[in-house]
Amino acid sequence: GLEFSEIPLCPPDVVFGVLDSFNQDPDPNKVNLSIGAYRTDEGDPWVLPIVKATELALAQDVLQDHEYLPISGLTAFLDSSARLVLGASSTIILENRYAAVQTIGGTGAIRIGLGFLKKFSKSNVFYLPTPTWPNHNKILTELGAEIRSYRYYDVDKNCLDEKGMIEDLRAAPEGSTVILHGVAHNPTGMDPTKDQWKQICDVIKERSLTTFVDFAYQGFASGDLDKDAWAVRYFIEQGLNLFIAQSYSKNFGLYNERVGCLTVTCSSPKLASCVKSQLAVLCRTIWSNPSNHGARIVATVLNNPAMFAEWKENLRVMSDRLSQMRQALYDRLRVLGTPGNWDHLLAQIGMFSYTGLKPNQVEIMTKKFHIYLMKSGRISLAGLNSKNLDYVAKGIHEVIT
Ligand code: PMP
Repeated sequence: GLEFSEIPLCPPDVVFGVLDSFNQDPDPNKVNLSIGAYRTDEGDPWVLPIVKATELALAQDVLQDHEYLPISGLTAFLDSSARLVLGASSTIILENRYAAVQTIGGTGAIRIGLGFLKKFSKSNVFYLPTPTWPNHNKILTELGAEIRSYRYYDVDKNCLDEKGMIEDLRAAPEGSTVILHGVAHNPTGMDPTKDQWKQICDVIKERSLTTFVDFAYQGFASGDLDKDAWAVRYFIEQGLNLFIAQSYSKNFGLYNERVGCLTVTCSSPKLASCVKSQLAVLCRTIWSNPSNHGARIVATVLNNPAMFAEWKENLRVMSDRLSQMRQALYDRLRVLGTPGNWDHLLAQIGMFSYTGLKPNQVEIMTKKFHIYLMKSGRISLAGLNSKNLDYVAKGIHEVIT
């Protein structure tokens, strides 16, 4: 039987743990650089204007009801999600060779996709980059997978560990699954170059690895939806079949609506139907039917050219501000003459940056300056704004010197 007294306390989630400490800090100058959500220059959350407008229109729509959605989700949402990531003219789309299910956020897409692989793949080996989004590890642990890691980021040189990554993937047993971040790697912000992606693709083919792409930041990284999908589309052109976990949390700012999509590309429409039927079984046993509100907003916007254009403008507002903050932090460190080479800040993209600050320096940042960031030295550029930039740059300067 169950012994309640034997259940140990689980430590708080690292990301949300830092947020708790920040919230409890009474210091008026405190800065939160741990958040994985967009903030305006005033430090506020931002509801995208196109999202607000769509919500208002949907609220007026008398045809809307609260009936269950199909187990696999809204068709208009699934079709437009696949087009968004693969490109409307992709042969996969034209030949109807994909299986898609609507999920509870990007997390749900990862959970369903990895659950499917755990069930059907002949290999139990799953490769994660070091470092990676911590939930990858947790999900695979819950699934009972054999987790291995591949080198990804060189913390001494502040760059991609290209050689280590290729070496580790080359040593992977055939048929293992490799998890890649499709764009804007979290936590480092460091993506492979096009040449490096090509090498990665070659090794994947050579070792017959199954490719799982975590794709949480399309359009949010560069401001350009197609540019951010380059690696995914390159892999497809090279003939790989992919598992793609999309999230609309960041690029639509729909964090709490939990909108995601898992798309699996297949070699025939018939196989796609089989895969889809099995994905639906997994969804059925975890949440039965997906939620409506956020997916309805996304489907409405993606299927209407004028709304789509407005969304792209909204996306650009966010990605522009994040890259301005990245540049501004870099410039300030240069002006202060902070020792070290900070070029990696500019080589990284998206919401996060691996600053290179060591755990003891992070501790001083937090204790002395009330600036909250991850122990790994990761900062969220969304937490920076014109009011706190100087303060943060000085904090970094002081802990380094
Ligand atoms: N993958 C990565 C790399 C992420 O950063 C996130 C969000 N922090 C997710 C997946 C999950 O996204 P969602 O909030 O939509 O579940």
